[in-house]
Formats: sequence, structure tokens, C-alpha cells
Amino acid sequence: MNDGPLRIMGGRFVDVEAGRFYPDGTSLLVDSGRIRSMLDHRPDGREGRAVDLGGRAVVPGLFNTHSHIHLVAPSLMLGWGEWLQVNRLRQRQIEKALRDCLDRGITIIQDGLPDELSLNRKLASRIEEGRIPGPRIHQTVHVTPLGGAFAPRRTLRGRVMRRMMCLSNIDYEDIDSGVLVFPPDAPAQAARDAVDRAVDERGATVIKFYDQRERGVSYKPGARIMTQAQLDAAADQARVRGVNTLIHHLTVESFRRAVRAGVHSLIHVPLDAPLTERDIEAFMEAGCTIEPTLTLAYFYSWDLEGHACHGHPRMRALDEARRRTRQDVARDSWLPELAGAMTRGMEQAGRGRMRMTTFIEMSQVFRYFSAYASQGMDNVRLLWSHGARDRIACGNDAGPAWCSQASIPLELDMFALCLNEDADDAFTPADALRIATINSARAMGLEESFGTLEEGKVADLVVLDGNPLEDMSVTGSRAAAVFKNGRLEVDRCGLG
Ligand SMILES: [Zn+2]
Repeated sequence: MNDGPLRIMGGRFVDVEAGRFYPDGTSLLVDSGRIRSMLDHRPDGREGRAVDLGGRAVVPGLFNTHSHIHLVAPSLMLGWGEWLQVNRLRQRQIEKALRDCLDRGITIIQDGLPDELSLNRKLASRIEEGRIPGPRIHQTVHVTPLGGAFAPRRTLRGRVMRRMMCLSNIDYEDIDSGVLVFPPDAPAQAARDAVDRAVDERGATVIKFYDQRERGVSYKPGARIMTQAQLDAAADQARVRGVNTLIHHLTVESFRRAVRAGVHSLIHVPLDAPLTERDIEAFMEAGCTIEPTLTLAYFYSWDLEGHACHGHPRMRALDEARRRTRQDVARDSWLPELAGAMTRGMEQAGRGRMRMTTFIEMSQVFRYFSAYASQGMDNVRLLWSHGARDRIACGNDAGPAWCSQASIPLELDMFALCLNEDADDAFTPADALRIATINSARAMGLEESFGTLEEGKVADLVVLDGNPLEDMSVTGSRAAAVFKNGRLEVDRCGLG
């Protein structure tokens, strides 16, 4: 399809903020990648090119705000043969996941911690040049004291572990490293300088923090390593430089410190205790957003003796959802050669058997993360019911979660599982759509240009069969057509 103004008509365009369709007859004029105007009557066609969507629904481009593109892990319990196979098929799997994103109308994804910045830059430029299909890729740079959970001092054991998880051991001082460190006991100015270096040397547009160590391979937060003064200074310097900030957080203490520092978006959700009303008020006042990555509950919360969620009433619903959907999630996420590893990993996890490459005991991870389905989801419910509905975004943590970047329907299913327990205030398809679009744009600081169908915004349009305001499964399903930047990039309904 040629460039130049294009009138898109005959669609049912969704106003995601209001949760309803724009008036019948609405059409969009797209030019130079933007929505230039919206009319609520059919134009006379004298503007030149036009396409008719034949009554299909249209939503803005969807988001996955948090995932890890190069962490290709259908399970943490891979045997040696599977591990070698994953390594061999890695690049093909990455390209499949990116293609699937676009196929499902996901036009923006954010990589929450790439080790080597050049890998995503290469993918992004191949996508931009049209050599492979995929979404826009935003990537973070991690700024942290040396010794933090994602910037461990490099030991031989650590290097081997990272290699087994397909992570790189690139030096932190390398200009291409996605992790930039400063000394743990440094003054606050060192944290500001590190933010400046992340922006100036490594081209950061998003900066990620994590203020704690971790215990062993459990991911359980350990001692605090970044002082409040360092975190305050780093978050402030990022604001001065106009870049967005994120924090990986899993405790109420971390939530409070992040809100106090004014970190823009909080990844994950506290698993250790309930948030208080005061916590949520402070979160709202600070203008923060949260990306709870509930998909982690699907893969890591198991109803096993001694685990945090043991006997929790929500576990029955989660187990049922897993039984119903795991084959589909595996098939949708992975190359056929890798799909079996995911379902086998889940079967082992459900029986409490958790060993990586047959000898590294991983059950600590499950023991800690089992609280996702209980305490974690309880905290999401608290946030939801205390006014944070517009501040909850859609990221699935693909990588640590054994699914792909395109598995947004699973994340939305987990929201429904978590929030549908209030019969008089049920989670609706319109809520799911808002989380996957405008809320996520807000979490990424992109709401001026993305997240709704409005004049002036980037023309990322997802054309869907079915009604996403009535049926949640329509959002994130394979699209009839996808326009990215006003260009038709997926076409299953003969528009081109
Ligand atoms: Zn992550």
C-alpha cells in the first residue's frame, strides 16, 4: 500500500477510555503515520485513498510493558537436551515472538532488562527496515549499585548460572551493557552521574532500578543495597533528563521507597504483606503506575505444602485455568520444538519437582513466588478498588514467565481471575482493553502519542473480528489487520 493520506472507514472505532464505540459512521484520516482527523460521518471519498473495514472493530495498538526478549525460557527445569535445543533455536524463537506480537496487535513492547543493548537495537532496526515483522521495541538501562540483584559481583558460579539461563556476562563498563553500576556506598551524586551516563553513553530512554540484593537463586529480596538518598537522586535526575523510570519491587518496603522517590512505574507487586490505604494514597499522589505482571502467578504459584498460597481459595481457580489453557499457551508461545518443554515444566512444578538441568535445585523460586497468587493478587485488588484503575498496566514478564511477549491474553485472563471475585464490581472486557492500551501507554510515559484513537496520535490501529467490549478474548487474539504508523502491516481481511 502506498503512502499518502488514507481514509479508514466502515469500522467500529473503540473509545477505550469511555469503554464504548465512537458514533456510527466515524472514520479516520491517517497521514504521515498519525491520525490527522476523525469525522463522525462518511466522507465523500474525494480525499483519495480509502479502505473500508466492513464493520469490524478497531482498537489502538496494544502494549506489553514488561518482558525480556532474549531470555528464551520455556521452563526453568530444562534437561540438558532441552537446554541445548533452546540455545539452538533461540533466534528463530525470538523472531517468532516478535511476529506474533504484531499479529495480535501488540505494537509496543518494552524489554525490562536487556544485558546487551545492541541485540535489541539490531532487532529494532531490522523491524524498522521491514526485514522482519514486529512491534516497536523500547529497552531499559539498569542503574544500580554493584552487588544489587541484577548487577551481581561476577563469580565463576554466577557466570555459569547466567550462561545456563541464556544470559550474557558482558562487562558492566562495556558501553553496550544494559547494566550500569556505581559503588554501593557512594554519595547520592554518584547515582545522578550514573543516570547521566546511562542517557549519554548508552542512549537510555527508560531507566530501571532495583534497590535490593537477592538470596541465592530464590529471587527473594534480601538486604537493601541502594540507599533512599541514592534512589531519590537517581529518580530526580531521570526526571531532569526527561527519561522514564521503573523499579523492580516485590515488597511493601520497596513499594514505599519507590513511591517516595517518585519512580514512575513499579514492576511486579508486593508479595510480603498487604498495602495500606495510606500506601495507595501516596502512590496516587505521586502519579505512579504499576505493572503487576500477574502471569508470574500462572507459572510460579503452586498449591504445595509449605508454600505461601497453600490452601488459598484462589488456587483452585488458578489450577483450573492452567488445566484449561496450558496447551494453548504453549502452542501460541513457542516453536513446536519447544512447546513441550513448557508443559513438562509446569507438570513438574505442580508436583513440586524443580531442578534446572537436573542438578540445580530451584524450588526456592517457587516457594517465594507462590505468594503471587495470594498476597500479590490481593494487593492488586486493593489498588484496583482504591482508585488506581487507570494506573495499572499490562506487562507479562515473558522470559521469567514461560510464555512469549505475545501472550497478552494470558495476562488479561490473570487480571480477570484476580479481579472478578467481586460480583458487584466485576472486571469487564472494557477494563482489560484499557489496561492493555491507555494505561500501559501511561506507564511508559507515551500517553501523548499512543494508547487511544484520537486526533494527533500515532496511527497504530488493530482491526478485530468480534467485539472487544463484550468478549475479552478478542483483545490480543490474532487481528484481522494491523496498521503500525499508519501502514498496513498485517492484513488477513483483504484490505491491501
Ligand atoms: Zn522482568
